[in-house]
Amino acid sequence: MKGDDMNASGPSATPAATPAAIASLVAAKGVNHIGIAVRSLDEQRAFYESVLGARFECIEEVKSQKVRVAFYALGPIDNAVRLELLEPTSPESPIAQFIEKRGEGLHHVAYTVTDIAGRLCALHQAGVRLIDEYPRAGAHGSQIAFLHPKASNGVLTELCEPRRNGNSNGNSNGHAA
Ligand code: ZN
Repeated sequence: MKGDDMNASGPSATPAATPAAIASLVAAKGVNHIGIAVRSLDEQRAFYESVLGARFECIEEVKSQKVRVAFYALGPIDNAVRLELLEPTSPESPIAQFIEKRGEGLHHVAYTVTDIAGRLCALHQAGVRLIDEYPRAGAHGSQIAFLHPKASNGVLTELCEPRRNGNSNGNSNGHAA
């Protein structure tokens, strides 16, 4: 990371032009969840519940992506870190294709955003490669979109705008596939 204090040596270190100084297109509010591709949700339960101690929340099928998704939470209920385990329901699922190529494992990181449609428009205009130019439906009524992994240094990046339902507990509604 540029401008890292660890590497700053003396007065020549300049605080100018850090990435944070550039107007932020995504303006992520936080990490919404971490997506993990698995062959079988059932086979993963023991690890996530008994080994990690994560709380199982629910399973939802997202037909548009041909996946079953299990959600786990860690930490305080109102500010939990969520894990989204994705199991393909068809060989045509993008998750099945991912597992075939790269095996099970980390699939994507999702960031909470507001105004996802406006963000995508601004990203597109800025020349950032997108998988989804328009938001689509994720789990729990959220709106989601993926940036191209080549636009985000090899990490598949999801933007997630949780469903607004009148309370401020957006994080618990922010799951997406
Ligand atoms: Zn996701």
